Parts: sequence; structure tokens; C-alpha cells
Amino acid sequence: MIEVKNITKKYGKAVAVDNISFNIEDGEIVGLLGPNGAGKSTTMNIITGFIEQTEGDVIIDGYNTLKKPKKAKKEIGYMPEGVPLYTDLTVKEFVNYMAEIKQVNKKERKEKVEKIIEKTGLKDVEKKLIKNLSRGYKQRVSMAGALVGEPKILILDEPTVGLDPKQITEIRSMIKELGKEHTIILSSHILSEVSQICNKVIIINKGKIVAIDTPENLENRVTKNNCIYVTVEDKENKVDEIKDKIEEIEKIELVEENEDGTKQYLIEAEKDKDIRKTIFAEFAKENITIFEMKKADTTLEDAFMKLIEGGNK
Ligand code: ADP
Ligand code: MG
Repeated sequence: MIEVKNITKKYGKAVAVDNISFNIEDGEIVGLLGPNGAGKSTTMNIITGFIEQTEGDVIIDGYNTLKKPKKAKKEIGYMPEGVPLYTDLTVKEFVNYMAEIKQVNKKERKEKVEKIIEKTGLKDVEKKLIKNLSRGYKQRVSMAGALVGEPKILILDEPTVGLDPKQITEIRSMIKELGKEHTIILSSHILSEVSQICNKVIIINKGKIVAIDTPENLENRVTKNNCIYVTVEDKENKVDEIKDKIEEIEKIELVEENEDGTKQYLIEAEKDKDIRKTIFAEFAKENITIFEMKKADTTLEDAFMKLIEGGNK
């Protein structure tokens, strides 16, 4: 279990991470989701003990990362952001070197290195220099490095950044597979990625947590409001008055003005209210002609944006 307790990280006066707390249970795959500069890498670096927090504690299986760094770090495999270092080594040399650093028992080292190379699909390229590999394979090498020492927890910083679609699919399924044996924290700024892989999402923005929930719940939290797109011809500009006439409407927003003079509005009603019939009736009364009406499907992407916007208020 990982306990992050009131972590703050300041760089001079700038606050990169602002008093965040969360727990991660064994076996969870958790996504740290947020835009660039949100504080994802900083948070991960603090959990791994790579950088020191200004305030707060991280407890890994009962070990405080500041007081018992060796014991805490032993449980963690870390894949940093970007391409791997040591690009003048071959794949096998690199994994071997990591095994030395992590003090894997000498007698077992060879066998363990083999196993990791197999697991990460690197067997065919094990004798190649890392610098000559494709971006996708380089990412696998980083992953292999993180797996050395059989850590219980894997921390993967933006594992699919810079990869092509095929490589992304491969890395994602590898992460899912690894999730059967490891607790995983991964960061991403792509919502669909996190919702595909993770069973818990921590959304952070500007160093603060804006939401912690399952992908499904996050979606539900913001899709309860019924949203409808209506395209209308409204020569007398009466749409604005409609809001006061229909009690269930919470918001009317102009989306776009079309060349033919029609306008598209997004109408948001109270939770669980389908107001399409009411809109038809009321708009007719006001002489507003409806050209098109459709329900707006709120996606997880919208959920993410709403939460982030809400967090900024
Ligand atoms: P993310 O990984 O979510 O993109 P980071 O954790 O890398 O975000 O950065 C969070 C904030 O902290 C950013 O505003 C960044 O500029 C700042 N920051 C990160 N590292 C340093 C550093 N070494 N010195 C000063 N500011 C930093
Ligand atoms: Mg980052």
C-alpha cells in the first residue's frame, strides 16, 4: 500500500505540488491524469524517492521514504519520462547493468535478466545498441529497467508519449498484463488512455487533486445533466428569454452561428430531466423554429475538462 500524505513540493516560490494526499491499494492500476505542468512527474519522483518533498510523507508498505529510503525503494520500479539513458549499451547490457545497480543476487542475475527480456518482448533485439532501436522498443527497454528486482510497484511516467498508434496499443496491453502482478501508477495527459488501462483515476491540475474516482464514476458525475444541442432560427432573438420560462433549464450557451442565419445552442437541464418535449412546445410558442435537436453525449473527455475547469475556480 502506498500512502501519500499532504505532499507539497516547492521550487523557490513556485508550488509544483500543493498538499496532495491519496492512498493506493495493492493490485490497483492508478492513472495520474492532468495537463502538462500539472505536477504528475513531480509527484511520481517524490513517491520513488528521486526528489525530496518540501512537506508531507510518503509511506510505502509501512516504510517512510525519507526515514527508510532503502526499504521503501526496494518495492518500486520506476520508468522515467522520455527515452532511456545509456544508449551506447546493448539491450542486454543495459538490463544487466540495472540488475547490478539493484543488487540482484549474482547467481540468479543471468536467469532473471533473461526473463525480463522475454517478458518485455526484447529477445529479438537484445544484442542491439539501444540508440539504434525504434522509439517503441526504447520504451520497452525502459520498462525492462523498471522491472528489474521484481518490484511490487511500477511507476510509469507517460509510458506512451511519442509512440505511434501500433506501439501505443502494444505498450498498453503490456501494462495491463503487468497489472496482474504489480501495483501500477502511470501518468498520462490522455484521458482515454487512462480510462482504458486504469481502475482508478487521480486527476491533478496545477499541483492540486481535482478528483479521485473510477473512470465510470467520473463520467457519471458529469453526464447526469441532460445536455441538448438545438439548432434554431430565431429572428426575434428570443432564445435568451427561454431560460426564465423553462424552470428545468440551468444553462443556455451559444455554440455557433451558421451562415444560413441559424444558431446552435447547448442547453443544459437539471439532472435526469429530459426536456426535449418542453423545448419543442416552448420554442414553438415563442416563434423559434427548430431545425435540429440532438442529445449531447458527454464523453470522459468532457468530464475531464469540466473537472479541470471546476478545479480552477
Ligand atoms: P507534469 O509532469 O504534470 O507535466 P511536472 O511535475 O513536471 O508536471 O511539473 C510541475 C510544475 O513544476 C511545472 O510548473 C514545472 O515547470 C515545475 N517544475 C518541475 N521541475 C522543476 C524544477 N526542477 N525546477 C523548477 N520548477 C520545476
Ligand atoms: Mg511529466
